[in-house]
Amino acid sequence: MKELQYLNKYLKKYWLKLLLGVIITIIARVFSLVMPSYVNKSIKAVEGSVNGTLSVPEAESLLLEYILIIIGAALLSALFTFLMRQTIINVSRYIEYDLKNEVFDHYQLLSLNFYKKNRIGDLMNRISEDVGQVRMYAGPAIMYGIQTLTLFACLIPLMFIKAPTLAAYTLLPLPFLSILIYQISKIIHQRSTKVQEFLSNLSTFTQESFSGVSVIKAYGLEPKMNSELKSLAHEGKETSMSLAKVNAWFFPLMILLIGISNILVIYIGGKQYINGTITSVGIIAEFILYVNMLTWPVAVVGWLTSIVQRAEASQKRINEFLNEQPSITNTEQKPTPVEGKIEFKNVSFTYEDTEITALNNVSFTIEPGQTVAFLGKTGSGKSTILDLVARLYDVSSGEILIDDVPVQKLNLDSLRSAIGAVPQDAFLFSDTIANNIRFGKENATQEEIENVAKKAAVHNNIMGFNKKYDTILGERGITLSGGQKQRVSIARALMKDPTIYLFDDCLSAVDTETEEEILTNLQKESKAKTTLIVSHRVSSAKNADKILVLEDGIVLQEGTHDKLNATEGYYKELYLDQLTDKHSSKVG
Ligand code: ADP
Ligand code: MG
Repeated sequence: MKELQYLNKYLKKYWLKLLLGVIITIIARVFSLVMPSYVNKSIKAVEGSVNGTLSVPEAESLLLEYILIIIGAALLSALFTFLMRQTIINVSRYIEYDLKNEVFDHYQLLSLNFYKKNRIGDLMNRISEDVGQVRMYAGPAIMYGIQTLTLFACLIPLMFIKAPTLAAYTLLPLPFLSILIYQISKIIHQRSTKVQEFLSNLSTFTQESFSGVSVIKAYGLEPKMNSELKSLAHEGKETSMSLAKVNAWFFPLMILLIGISNILVIYIGGKQYINGTITSVGIIAEFILYVNMLTWPVAVVGWLTSIVQRAEASQKRINEFLNEQPSITNTEQKPTPVEGKIEFKNVSFTYEDTEITALNNVSFTIEPGQTVAFLGKTGSGKSTILDLVARLYDVSSGEILIDDVPVQKLNLDSLRSAIGAVPQDAFLFSDTIANNIRFGKENATQEEIENVAKKAAVHNNIMGFNKKYDTILGERGITLSGGQKQRVSIARALMKDPTIYLFDDCLSAVDTETEEEILTNLQKESKAKTTLIVSHRVSSAKNADKILVLEDGIVLQEGTHDKLNATEGYYKELYLDQLTDKHSSKVG
C-alpha cells in the first residue's frame, strides 16, 4: 500500500464527498436488510393462518402490509445505491482527471534525455492504462469495500442473534469463495496483461504496415507481411483462449459455492425445524436470502484484493515518472531580456545514453545581430550546438554565455521565447497550416501569417491547395513534401519574431533557387537578429558573417567565405564540388 499513499492527497481533497458517499452507502445497506426479515414475517403470517393462530383476513392484511414495506425498502435501497455510485464513482473520476493532468504537466517539465530513455508507448500507457487501474482503486474498490464492510458489520451479528448454529454453517463456505475468486482474479489479470501486450504488438505491426505500405509494395513484401500477421494472430488467439478458459470458471465457481451455502441452510435449517430448535420455516427463507446477499460482497473481497494489487503496481509505475527530476531546471524566476550575444567557451558535450562525445572543446563568439553558419558532415555536431543554445541539454564541461551571462542563470522561459528554432526534422502538428504557423504567435492575424509564409516562399504552394491556409496536415489531411514542410516550419519561426534564429539544415530539401529567395528574405528579416544557420551546402553559408567548419565535434576551420575559400581544406573542396553540381541538388 506504500505506493498508493500518493493518492491520499486527492482523497483528502475530496474527503467531504467521500464521507457523504460512506453515509449514503450505509443507508442503502440498512434499507436492503429490511427485505429478508419481512419475507420471514410474511411466511410466519401464512403459517399462522394455516395453523389457526391468525384469521384469514388478518393474515391477508398482514401479508399485504409486509409486501408494501418490502417494496418501499427496496425502492429506497435502490435510490441510495444510485446516489452512492453517483458520489463515490464520481470522486474516482475527479481523481483520475487530476492525476492525468498532474502526470501530463510533469511530462512537459522533463527534459529530452527523459524522452530518449523511455518509449513513447510507455509514456502513453502510464497516463492512460495505469491511471485507469488506479482509478479502480480510488472508486470501485473504495465503494465496494465500504459496502462489503457495512454489510458484514450489520448482517453477520444479525444472523448469529437469529440462529447461531445455522449462521455458522451458512457462513462456512464463504471464505473459500473469497480465496478462490482472489486466485482466479490473479490468473485472469496475468493473462489479460498478456492479451494487452499482444494487442499493442498487433497494433504496432498493423500501423507500421499501413504507414510503410509504399515500401512493402515496392519490395514485394506482401506475402511476407501476410505470414507474419498470421503467426502474430495465431499467438493472439492462443493468449485470448487461455484468458477465456479462466474467465469461464468465474461464474460457475461462484454459483457452486452459493449452491453449497443454500443446501446447507435448507439441510441444517430443516433438521433444526424438525427437532424444534427453530420455530418457523420463515427463518430458512430469510437465511437463503442472506446467503444470496452475501455472495457478491464475499466474491468482491477477492476481486478487491486483486484490484488493489494492480492499482499498487500501476501507481508504482506512475510514481517512477513523477519522481523523475527534470535535468534542466529554471534557476532564475524573474524574466531576463535577451540581446542575442552567444559565446561558447571550451564547450564539450557527451550524450548520456550513447556516450558519444558530440562536441569537443568548442569555442566561438557571436555578436548580437551576426549571422554564423555551421558546416560539416553529418554527425559532426552541428545540431548539438543549436540544442545547447536553446538549453535543451546542459554542457558536460565548459560554459555557454548568452549576453555574457551563463546560460543556466538565465530565466528559462525568457531564453526559450527569445529563440525561433527550425529543427532538422521539421515537425508539424495534425492541424491546419494556419494554426501550425500560428504556433509561433498565438494571436497572429491571417495577414501576418500570409506575410511570413511569403517570406518563407511557401505562400504560393499553400494557395494551390483547395482549402488554402485551412488545409489540415498530417494523418487526417494532406502530406507536405519535405521542402514544403521545411518552409512552413521556417514561417512558424519567423512568426515568432525572436531575437535568436536557429536554422538547422532547414533548406536541405529546397531547390537552390528557392533557397536563394528565402535566404535573401531571411537576411532582410534577420539583420538585427543573431542567426545560426546549419547547413551542408556552401550556398547557405556564403553570406554569413562567419563560417565554422566542424568535424567530429571539433572546429576545423573558422572565417568568412572569402577567407575560407582562399584556404585549402574542407570548405574549399565542398564549394568546388557544389559549384559543379549545383543543378543536381534540385530537390523539394
Ligand atoms: P549533425 O547535426 O552535425 O549531423 P549531431 O549534432 O546531430 O550532428 O550529432 C553529433 C553526434 O552526436 C553524432 O555522432 C550523433 O550520433 C550523436 N547524437 C546526436 N543526437 C544524439 C542523441 N539525441 N542521443 C545520442 N547521441 C546523439
Ligand atoms: Mg543535424
